[in-house]
Amino acid sequence: MEENRHHVVGRRNILKSSAAALGGALMGSEPLEAHPKGVNTNSRPSELKITDLRIAHITKAPMNCPIIRIDTNQGIHGLGEVRDGASPTYALILKSRLLGENPCNVDRLFRKIKQFGGHSRQAGGVCGVEMALWDLAGKAYNVPVFQMLGGRFRDKIRIYADTTESHDPKVYGQRLKERMERGLTWLKMDLGYDLVENTPGTVTQPSGMSAYEQEFTPHMFTGIELTDKAIGLMADYVAQVREVVGMEIPLSADHFGHIGVNTCIRLGRAFERFNLEWLEDMIPWQYTDLWRQITDSIPVPTLTGEDIYLKEDFHKLCSTHAIRKIHPDLATSGGILETKKIGDMAEELGVPMAMHFAGSPVACLASVHCAAATQNFLALENHSLDVPWWDDLVSGVEKPIVNRGYIKVPEAAGLGVTLNDDVVKEHLMPGTGFFQPTEEWNKERSWDRLWS
Ligand SMILES: [Mg+2]
Repeated sequence: MEENRHHVVGRRNILKSSAAALGGALMGSEPLEAHPKGVNTNSRPSELKITDLRIAHITKAPMNCPIIRIDTNQGIHGLGEVRDGASPTYALILKSRLLGENPCNVDRLFRKIKQFGGHSRQAGGVCGVEMALWDLAGKAYNVPVFQMLGGRFRDKIRIYADTTESHDPKVYGQRLKERMERGLTWLKMDLGYDLVENTPGTVTQPSGMSAYEQEFTPHMFTGIELTDKAIGLMADYVAQVREVVGMEIPLSADHFGHIGVNTCIRLGRAFERFNLEWLEDMIPWQYTDLWRQITDSIPVPTLTGEDIYLKEDFHKLCSTHAIRKIHPDLATSGGILETKKIGDMAEELGVPMAMHFAGSPVACLASVHCAAATQNFLALENHSLDVPWWDDLVSGVEKPIVNRGYIKVPEAAGLGVTLNDDVVKEHLMPGTGFFQPTEEWNKERSWDRLWS
């Protein structure tokens, strides 16, 4: 065996040194199974081992985006990204659990580390690592990630974008119209009661709430309900926006404010005539029964999911038909494979899947591969259409990355993106370095089993 190994390695070196002349083709007479065609000649997948995990923390993209780089013993590395706004520590605590492992065993490693993820940003480390493992597996075997998921349902991924708010519906409608002129085929608007709260007689709420209470109290515990006047004004706002953009383009709505369940229902009924695609996160996702009440009471589709970790809680919402559509963020929901599983589960239950996303091109392309390989996909969010240097962070993909409302699914190995180091260095979080050593995380240990 040992002799055979040296034989293969020796031959591999020959291949590398004459790669240009051979154009990547394999030489003549050796048995095919010893040298799988197309496998990265820098890499022997079965011998690949993780040697390092480092961070480059990008800021203002417009979110803070910690990029993960996982290095190996064979000179290839994988890229991933911790969920926007989350601490890179969520990834660093996983380093000691990954060193020495073969990154191609993506599902096995995901199961090893998934206990260190939680809902929303707490999942950022696990999901970022999972993306980087897929990137490595793809580079090692020389296949794009979507192919390892079972192939694709589409060659380009539909993008939808949020748009900077304005209290003037004509201005806002115009901004949405500009999105359409850039080729977008799906729009989303923020539709909070802040649009009308300065008009007297619109909001019923306890006075003297602290900023913390307003921000961190789940909706149904705030005591905030809207008056008929408020609901009428908000409906009028949507009517004016629809007048500008027309009725044909899909239009979703989000960020209603922390309002009670009854107000959600009254709003949903008032919005019926605008044919909205969904009303997003009207209440926190955890309240399945309340979601079902809202969903059953209004003629507009409901949606939630950008803060849910793992398939189980999506299944609860889908199997009870408490929501009409789901919206996982792959950097929270469990990474590329778990999100495909979530989509497939939802599809069986008749529920379509849009995808939340707000990060750098690394997590964006991870979402693109998953969206390509998942049949019930609707549209992928993008928050960076107005960030001029966002595309420049990476190379390897077609530019502009979002082209006339779509992202082309890349066919290069792995995620298909390479970082442009100089551009990343220009946009690092102040006080942080570019993939600095992280040796202090090499020996983090605990007894990780979840049962006795
Ligand atoms: Mg949202």
